[in-house]
Amino acid sequence: MIDFSTPPPRLLPVVGLTGGIGSGKTTVAGIFEALGIPVYNADRQAKLLYHRDADLRAWVVNRFGSQCGTFEQNNLVGINRQALAEVVFSDADALTELNAVVHPVVDRNFHEWHALQSKHFTAPFVIREAAILIETGGHEQCDSVVVVCAPQAVRLARASRRLNADTAHIAKRMKQQLSDEARAEHADFILDNANDSTLLHQVRKLYDRLILVRTG
Ligand code: ATP
Repeated sequence: MIDFSTPPPRLLPVVGLTGGIGSGKTTVAGIFEALGIPVYNADRQAKLLYHRDADLRAWVVNRFGSQCGTFEQNNLVGINRQALAEVVFSDADALTELNAVVHPVVDRNFHEWHALQSKHFTAPFVIREAAILIETGGHEQCDSVVVVCAPQAVRLARASRRLNADTAHIAKRMKQQLSDEARAEHADFILDNANDSTLLHQVRKLYDRLILVRTG
């Protein structure tokens, strides 16, 4: 006999969080985390997945070269993200190809994480943070989308400081990303992170607004 009386598990609403390099996505995500909201950071998880998934590692090294791998006693044990970035941020086709393979793996991992969060925790919503949320179509699976914006010069200065890289290097990465204007077309909410001192206040207001949307 099949019991139809058990309702399917309710999934927590998903708020997508994206922005260009150096815009302040991770800083915003950190503030939400401090407010008790679970955050899935797609870039951080991709790093972990490279370590966990031997097939994914092998594909990367076969496609982009052995300099993109890290080896122990001739065994491929990890990915050299800096070397991989050098290859894919110089070649738009290579980046598209990498994203087409890595994105579905990260997407599956996100859905597993989301199901677990929904089953075990009672947060009002979860955050899905990804640099390429819109490029991968991930925004279409979100209940709302937050875009963090900042002028290019500010983002260049922040990102080069954080990554300890020259601005030409960061500018090359920026060229491969959508513009703030293109991202904003898909945004339900925009955080303006041009000025360092107002971000906390904006995120706090956005948090209240998101709670209000959820609770009616
Ligand atoms: P990436 O795409 O490179 O991961 P990101 O969008 O996640 O970047 P963050 O890492 O949050 O950006 O911010 C980049 C740098 O700028 C960090 O060193 C962060 O501390 C700093 N930063 C961002 N926003 C602010 C702010 N409002 N006040 C002070 N520092 C900030």
